[in-house]
Amino acid sequence: MAHYPFTDRPHLLVLTCTHVLAGSDITLVCHHFSDASWEFVCGGQHTEEDAIVMSVGELCDSDPTLHLLCDLPVGACAMRESRAHAWKRGRIEGEDFYSAAESRMG
Ligand SMILES: [Zn+2]
Repeated sequence: MAHYPFTDRPHLLVLTCTHVLAGSDITLVCHHFSDASWEFVCGGQHTEEDAIVMSVGELCDSDPTLHLLCDLPVGACAMRESRAHAWKRGRIEGEDFYSAAESRMG
């Protein structure tokens, strides 16, 4: 599966939450294995009503560190405590994962 920098596809739609729209830091990014969808959310509690869809370009405009995650393989996620912290990558619990992608982790 090919991975493109977000700058090549700024109109890619991703799932985020109303808190991020209101200015909260994104602290969890998931690239889901099943449908290759992306999720960019804050560390808060979420219900379906908090879910919104935005273009990745808009999110990267407000937080350029998100570009660091454009090669995140499907089945992987990245976490950080806040915007001031570095991203830590890992696998999404309970999702499949291509072992060949392991080399891109870290
Ligand atoms: Zn949130």
